[in-house]
Amino acid sequence: MKVIKFGGSSLASATQLEKVLNIVKSDPERRFVVVSAPGKRNDEDTKVTDALIKYYKHYIKGADVKADQEWIINRYQAMVDELGFKSKEMVKIAKAITDLATLPIEDNDFLHDTFLAAGEDNNAKLIAEYFRNNDIEARYVHPREAGILVSSEPGNARILPGSYDKLEELRESDEVLIIPGFFGVTSDNQICTFSRGGSDITGSIVAAGVKADLYENFTDVDGIFAAHPGVVYEPHSIPELTYKEMRELAYAGFSVLHDEALLPAYRGKIPLVIKNTNNPDHPGTRIILEHQGATVPVVGIASDDKFVSINMSKYLMNREVGFGRKVLQILEDLNIRWEHMPSGIDDLSIIIRERELTPIKEQEILSYLTRELGVDEVEIEHGLSILVIVGENMRDHIGVTATAAKALSEKNINLEMISQGSSEVSVMFVIETEQEKEAVRALYDAFFRSNN
Ligand code: ASP
Repeated sequence: MKVIKFGGSSLASATQLEKVLNIVKSDPERRFVVVSAPGKRNDEDTKVTDALIKYYKHYIKGADVKADQEWIINRYQAMVDELGFKSKEMVKIAKAITDLATLPIEDNDFLHDTFLAAGEDNNAKLIAEYFRNNDIEARYVHPREAGILVSSEPGNARILPGSYDKLEELRESDEVLIIPGFFGVTSDNQICTFSRGGSDITGSIVAAGVKADLYENFTDVDGIFAAHPGVVYEPHSIPELTYKEMRELAYAGFSVLHDEALLPAYRGKIPLVIKNTNNPDHPGTRIILEHQGATVPVVGIASDDKFVSINMSKYLMNREVGFGRKVLQILEDLNIRWEHMPSGIDDLSIIIRERELTPIKEQEILSYLTRELGVDEVEIEHGLSILVIVGENMRDHIGVTATAAKALSEKNINLEMISQGSSEVSVMFVIETEQEKEAVRALYDAFFRSNN
């Protein structure tokens, strides 16, 4: 049995909903359908979730919300009209949207989330009705009924472990269940959403809960590309990735799937496939626990900018007990997360994301390192990017780093740092952001376009 999740662009218009219907109909294993709110129909359009945010802001300010309500209701109504069926749900949907503006504003930590969740919730009701009109025994299931219990963290809910047992009971249903994504219910019965884009998380939770054989995540691309299509000309879609590889790629900027969505499916050992609603025959990208048999050493090339390196050196640093701990202590005291820590005999660099720093924090770090730790030299280097080549099978191949370094040197790209974890899932290079795009192209050519 399969859990299938459709993103907002797959549900943006009647044409898209027809595709979704056909996809669900074409495979009786597709028993659990998790849906996002309607997304954009074109570049100028507004996502229903964003329209709900606007509506919320007007409501708490005491402004007139009529236009907001009408826009959102019309968005659903337009789909019904285009699909050409008589909807009984539409009256309830219109009421649900209007009734949001009767909820208490004071002392209501979950008001924002309740507004936002209405996008997926009403879409799920509408889709269930549309399916029923087209010979699918479909039923809308609220996350409360499904048992999606979450922590009380507005806008950033976490699933509570007890949810999975209740979710498993859904396996017994003979109907196709339509579950709104993006939110769950707290122990106080409040609506609480995951972070933005969180319908992917719901899909993954449902897949783990019902112990699905497959979690299909339908979006508007043919899977995960081996490099960013905005940088590399027509990169190929990766046929198969492991969860570890996906995690590495996501860390360095690949964003097809919500970051937190992998965990429930990974823990539940559920394979995941990313597919294209507009091209459902394309096999997409499968994300699995382990590669079976031999595959290529490198599966993808990722890069991300806005990194900073704190570089320090001190003569005989390696002999000083506790030096590293003291450096990390100052970061902890300033509440700074660090990412990587490449080192030499007498030097140490700490790589962090630029957003972790402020000019004041920079000054505090510099003065602590010079005054308290007596380093000989210290500098904070901005404008850095990380470049990551990913592939679990590089462990069994010699020369992967050599191929990368050769390709980069031929383009005159200076490698500021190199780091490879002991699990050998990836090799990371730190380079100047100015050279990032050229570096990605050079690596893509070296690993995928030549006969290496
Ligand atoms: N509708 C929500 C958002 O736009 C969640 C989602 O689509 O996954 O963030």
